[in-house]
Amino acid sequence: MSTPPLPPPPLGVLGAGQLGRMLALAGAPMNLRLRLLDPSPLAPVAGLGELLTASYEDEAALARLAECPVVTYEFESVPVAAARRLAERTQVYPPPEALEVAQDRLLEKTRFQQLGIPTPAFQAVDSLAELEAAVSQLGLPAVLKTRRLGYDGKGQVVLQHASQCAAAFAALGGVPLLLEQFMPFQRELSLLAVRSTSGETRCYPLVDNQHEGGILRCSRAPASGLTPALEQQALGYAERLLGSLRYVGVLALELFDVQGTLYANEIAPRVHNSGHWTIEGARTSQFENHLRAVLGLPLGDTATLGPCAMLNAVGGLPGAAAVLAVPDAHLHDYAKAPRRGRKVGHVTVRAPDAATLDARLAQLEPLVPFQR
Ligand code: AMP
Repeated sequence: MSTPPLPPPPLGVLGAGQLGRMLALAGAPMNLRLRLLDPSPLAPVAGLGELLTASYEDEAALARLAECPVVTYEFESVPVAAARRLAERTQVYPPPEALEVAQDRLLEKTRFQQLGIPTPAFQAVDSLAELEAAVSQLGLPAVLKTRRLGYDGKGQVVLQHASQCAAAFAALGGVPLLLEQFMPFQRELSLLAVRSTSGETRCYPLVDNQHEGGILRCSRAPASGLTPALEQQALGYAERLLGSLRYVGVLALELFDVQGTLYANEIAPRVHNSGHWTIEGARTSQFENHLRAVLGLPLGDTATLGPCAMLNAVGGLPGAAAVLAVPDAHLHDYAKAPRRGRKVGHVTVRAPDAATLDARLAQLEPLVPFQR
C-alpha cells in the first residue's frame, strides 16, 4: 500500500536566512511545517523546513511555494514582482504593497508624511545639481542614502560640508538617492507591532537599539525611561501604518528619539533583529506571533518577562561555555559560515532588574564577537 503524498505545508516563506530559521523553530512545537525558498543552497534551515533552492524569480519554485495556502517573507529585498505573482495564486502576508514601500526610502518616507508621522526632512536626488540644491534647502549635516537596497548602514554617507557633495555623489551615484536631514537623536528605538488576519493587534514594548558602524550591536527591552507619552506616540504611528498598509504579520518600526519626539526612520515588513530578545524575553516571541498572525490564529501576549537584552554576534561566534556561564544567558548559533560583517548568531540575557542586566551585559560584551 503506498502512503498518500503529504499535503503542502501550511506556510511558504520567501527567504531562508536566520529569520526563516527562527520562524521554523517557532513553528516546530505546533508541528507547523514551512516550505522556504532561497537562492543559497547553504541557507541555514537544514532539517528545519523544506528548502527550495532557486532564484526568487524562478517560476517553478514560485509555483511550488504557491501550493502553500499562505506565503510570507523573511527577506526584505525579495523582488516585489515575485510577491505579486504569488499573491495572484495564494494569500501573501504582509501584503506586497508593504514590501514595495519598505524597499524604497522615498515611498517609505512619503508614506510617513502622508500619515502625519514625523520623519527627517528629505528630498529625492538624482543628479549632483539636485544634491547641491537639496543641501541648500535641508541644511547640513545631512545623510545621503541610496533609495533602495540599503541595510546595516550600507549605501549612505554623512555630509558635513557642501564641498563633500561631489565625492558623496560619486560614491553612491548612478542609482536613485535621497538626502535626509541628520537627526541629533539621543537614542534609537524600535517598535514591533503584530496584526493578524482578524485585525487583532498587539505591540511589544519599545526597545533601545545601539548600532556600531551601522550594524545593530545591542537591543535592550524595555527601553529605559519609557513614558506613556513616548509609548503613545509609537503606538499611534504603528496603528496608522498597519491600517494604511492593510498589514498582516510582524512590522518593525525604527525610530529616532529626539528629546521625546519620535521620528520614523524606516520600517521592516518582517520579523526583525531588534525583536530577537522576545524568544526568551517575552511571553510570546515575535516569530511565534508572526506565524499566528499570518495563519489567522489568536495572537500571544507580548509582555516582557523582565529586563532583557540581546547582543548580535557579528563575524564570529562566542564560546558557548563562557556565554552560558553567565546567569540567564542564552546562545543562538545561526549555522552560517562566519564572515566579517555577517550576523552569525546572538546572545540573549535576562535579569531580575536593570542593574543586574547591566552587570551581565558587561560580562557578555567582551565574549561576543563584533567584527565588521
Ligand atoms: P538606516 O539604514 O536608514 O537604518 O540607517 C542606519 C543608521 O544610520 C541608523 O540606525 C542611524 O544610526 C544612522 N542614521 C540613518 N539616518 C539618519 C539620520 N537621518 N540622522 C542621523 N542618523 C541617521
